[in-house]
Amino acid sequence: MFLGDYHTHTKYSDGKGSVKENAFAAKARGLKEIAVTDHGFHLFRKGLKKYLRLKADCEEASAQTGVKVIAGAEADVFSLQGELDLSEKELAAVDYLVAGFHKFAPPKSCSDFFKMYFVTFFNGLLPTSKKAKERNTAALIAAVKRYPIKVLAHLNHSLKADVGAVAKACAEKGVLVEINAKHLKDFCGQWEALAKSGALFVVNSDAHKPRDVGALNAAFEKAVQEGIDPSRIVNYCGE
Ligand SMILES: [Zn+2]
Ligand SMILES: [Zn+2]
Repeated sequence: MFLGDYHTHTKYSDGKGSVKENAFAAKARGLKEIAVTDHGFHLFRKGLKKYLRLKADCEEASAQTGVKVIAGAEADVFSLQGELDLSEKELAAVDYLVAGFHKFAPPKSCSDFFKMYFVTFFNGLLPTSKKAKERNTAALIAAVKRYPIKVLAHLNHSLKADVGAVAKACAEKGVLVEINAKHLKDFCGQWEALAKSGALFVVNSDAHKPRDVGALNAAFEKAVQEGIDPSRIVNYCGE
């Protein structure tokens, strides 16, 4: 059983369902909480208006379903300095902040794009160089240290990084390292480093469709099988 799913998307960005549909899906799976964390570069394109609508939808869905629906956003780490693509004002408005690298999000500058993504543009065809991995690791650690991030999303997915070093920085700052149900393969060969990092974890669906909200069992079982103690997975609340 899980308390909640803290990384879900709706039509407010690139998801297919509404906030209410995600909340009903969570209820059907027995969850008590969900966070709606649509992409910041969709949500804040024209200021705070859209986010405030999402927030009102979350309140309404909470009242209708009895599931606590938390309004949030997923920010992109969009520069090598580890900056997030949200302004101070936007960050202050967001109740639940998830962050990670996204190759489809607009980077801060051409130079950031080149250094972050050009080298891995043909994903799978070119191996990530040692130097690129070091740059990515430094950017994520800087973001973790600087911002009030609750969950570091899909570590090692869009861009490769030193998983152990980033997870250690998360442990020091109290940021949860996500076990993302969609991107488990990115932790292949990294589970030992994660287990040793001292970090706490959260299993999330990263659902883009209501039917995927709360589908967390397979990811949880894989993490435990790979040596992560269930007591370190904060949204797991026993059989
Ligand atoms: Zn993401
Ligand atoms: Zn996401």
